[in-house]
Amino acid sequence: MAIDSALPSPLGTPVCEKDAKALRFIEEMTRNADSVQERVLAEILSRNGETEYLRRFNLDGATDSDTFKSKVPVVTYEDLQPEIQRIANGDRSAILSSHPVSEFLTSSGTSAGERKLMPTIHEELDRRQLLFSLLMPVMNLYVPGLDKGKGLYFLFVKAETKTASGLLARPVLTSYYKSEKFKTRPYDPFNVYTSPDEAILCVDSFQSMYIQMLCGLIMREGVLRVGAVFASGLLRAIRFLQLNWKQLADDISAGTLNPNVTDPSIRKCMENILKPNPELAEFITKECSGEKWDGIITRIWPNTKYLDVIVTGAMAQYIPTLDHYSGGLPLACTMYASSECFFGLNMKPMCKPSEVSYTIMPNMGYFEFLPHDPNYPPLSPESPPRLVDLAHVQVGKQYELVVTTYAGLNRYRIGDILLVTGYYNSAPQFRFVKRKNVLLSIDSDKTDEAELQKGIDNASLLLKEFNASVIEYTSYADTTTIPGHYVIFWELLVKDAANSPSDEVLNQCCLVVEESLNSVYRQGRVADNSIGPLEIRVVKNGTFEELMDYAISRGASINQYKAPRCVSFTPILELLNGRVVSKHFSPAAPHWVPERRR
Ligand code: AMP
Repeated sequence: MAIDSALPSPLGTPVCEKDAKALRFIEEMTRNADSVQERVLAEILSRNGETEYLRRFNLDGATDSDTFKSKVPVVTYEDLQPEIQRIANGDRSAILSSHPVSEFLTSSGTSAGERKLMPTIHEELDRRQLLFSLLMPVMNLYVPGLDKGKGLYFLFVKAETKTASGLLARPVLTSYYKSEKFKTRPYDPFNVYTSPDEAILCVDSFQSMYIQMLCGLIMREGVLRVGAVFASGLLRAIRFLQLNWKQLADDISAGTLNPNVTDPSIRKCMENILKPNPELAEFITKECSGEKWDGIITRIWPNTKYLDVIVTGAMAQYIPTLDHYSGGLPLACTMYASSECFFGLNMKPMCKPSEVSYTIMPNMGYFEFLPHDPNYPPLSPESPPRLVDLAHVQVGKQYELVVTTYAGLNRYRIGDILLVTGYYNSAPQFRFVKRKNVLLSIDSDKTDEAELQKGIDNASLLLKEFNASVIEYTSYADTTTIPGHYVIFWELLVKDAANSPSDEVLNQCCLVVEESLNSVYRQGRVADNSIGPLEIRVVKNGTFEELMDYAISRGASINQYKAPRCVSFTPILELLNGRVVSKHFSPAAPHWVPERRR
């Protein structure tokens, strides 16, 4: 094949002309990060400068960063809520964006218990697709031959809703998979999935998963990479196989399709894929019927070269389990993105998870960085720290990401804390440190301290009639179960031992906590099956004092000691688990419907 090698990429040798073009684009953007950023801001301000929002700050036509920064405030979602609500209610005037808002993207970050609504515009789809199109050209530099087989990716759409005025509200990937861009994508030998689009686009998570797994099994020899967006999603697929392999093997053996798969378009497309294959069914039965599931991924899909899943941030908790099922296959974290904006990619996708750094692509939006010192509380609002430009962040320092987007967010705090690890050309590279204020997370849920406290308060009301109360509590994301689940350790003060709360009441307490948590958590429990029933472990009296003694023995100050609201340190977990007197699980799924509560 004729490759434009006149300009070999410093990143490596591209395998085809399409890749060469993508790598050149990365070079061009990262070499000129500063000027690309100035251009992006100027473009955004020239089109959105006359919106109602920006007019408030009297930019007077200026499109330069100095004027922008001196006049436009840094904001959070709550600051923009009135504007967002007006758009949701049908006000079509140019409030945040001069381009019409095409839909809302529902973030997994919540505000007052509901998903945040991010306005987006049509052309953002192009920008997202552009970032997607850079991933394989980089991967092809490190893993040869990916055009010789397929990717088994577990990809899903989620329920969508409409706002009062009829604008669609759905997660960003649902928006992408349902777009013509995805559905009519040209054939690309480096990006062939085993999953038919009909299965990816089926909103019923059982049918979707069943077919994706079935196709993955049928095409097992040709699978070169296995993935999902997040690590939790891939583990859910393995769990699905554990629970459903018999039925899957029966279908493969007879060439018939499970009657629980009712979606007509799926049934139709499976007619061409599903043929009786008793030999394969026997193989699957042999591999799946045993007790040993370690290395199952490589046994069933022996040609897998890597797992393509995000294991940075909260997902790092799944690395040991993924290693167990895959026999330690490389874990590739390819991109960093959000509903607000797609940010960037990992230029060394085969590096160890602990070394993953994402390079923010300067063309995706205008980026600023709020210095974040993990050891000191934020400065007072009177003297806010100066925000730093993309091309001027310092290696070794942490920052909170602030974005300005074409869709109309201006100086918006995403809430992610990033550490600068180095530069690629003039574009900095970042390690994802954490999302601010997240205490517990199993899948895409993000539960903060206040939400958990509210759950405990509500559950405590059930204890009142027993003259009992919660003295202290802490929590833990237990990912040893699939799906993972929240565990709350609590110590009770029971004044009347003869009338202590029954098992049933304590089980009910679990459900009350769940009912109090945000809608992303409840959706994970109800619709996605990505989070297991919440557990309360009652610990012996005096346990939290022991915990304090332990912390003090390790240098904590007695005066300042507060029980941590979330724990993950093994010795502390061992201490708590050693004092458990009873365990209780939520007896039912909490309430969740796709519609928003407000
Ligand atoms: P959402 O808006 O629901 O798509 O969630 C976006 C958030 O997910 C980001 O702001 C991050 O907190 C997190 N996230 C996305 N990509 C990554 C990644 N590669 N590593 C760690 N966290 C990520």
